[in-house]
Amino acid sequence: MDNIKKKIFKRVTGLCLAASVAVAAVYFGATKAIENAIFTSVIKQPYEPPVIILDAGHGGMDGGCVSVNNVPEKGINLNILLHLRSLLQVFGYNVEVTRDTDRSIHDDGIEGIANQKSSDMDNRLELFNKYDNAVCISIHQNQFTDSSYSGAQMFYSNEVKGSSSLAQSIQDSFVSLLQPDNKREIKLCGKELFLCYYCKNPTVMVECGFLSNPDEASLLETEEYQQKVAFTVFGGLEKYLASII
Ligand SMILES: [Zn+2]
Repeated sequence: MDNIKKKIFKRVTGLCLAASVAVAAVYFGATKAIENAIFTSVIKQPYEPPVIILDAGHGGMDGGCVSVNNVPEKGINLNILLHLRSLLQVFGYNVEVTRDTDRSIHDDGIEGIANQKSSDMDNRLELFNKYDNAVCISIHQNQFTDSSYSGAQMFYSNEVKGSSSLAQSIQDSFVSLLQPDNKREIKLCGKELFLCYYCKNPTVMVECGFLSNPDEASLLETEEYQQKVAFTVFGGLEKYLASII
């Protein structure tokens, strides 16, 4: 991936590491030869940005939950994903998505909704695990019997290092950019969240808001707010990526 973002990452990483090595060498009184050897070995390891895998939850015959205005979750998830993909691509990231249209991604020839759903989830997980160096984000909307519940919440698993920091970074981004009153904490999930639990890369399920809350549902159904949500997730992801260089 040859682009401005990668060049900036490489340059900043290289300069920071070079500065650290130089200070350490002076402090410990290393000889010029040792200093050069360390410097060369450090500089030769360029930062490889991870592939960003985006998943729009549900799709096709599976609409997900439905808003108080009768709008299915699947389309809101997809719109946010498309905005997020555009942002990431502008910044030079290599992005892959589970779907960019309203469809299930089950294998051809599978009969029955349960089998199709199972195949669909297997295929999403296969993409999440396609690369050794990836960061995965699954986009969903929440729902609860009490319509007063609102606010974004991140779900993660402890099976992979990095998922909790990624979740916290995106949660913090929602508070600082979009929902200053959001007091929700990131939530540890188990096997019930299939993609989060079984993915081998850092993964977060982003529950953007509650479609059971009339005010939040009305916001989530607008393109303007979907763009804001995409930018908020992007901000949290960027901060996480900067922390792992
Ligand atoms: Zn969902």
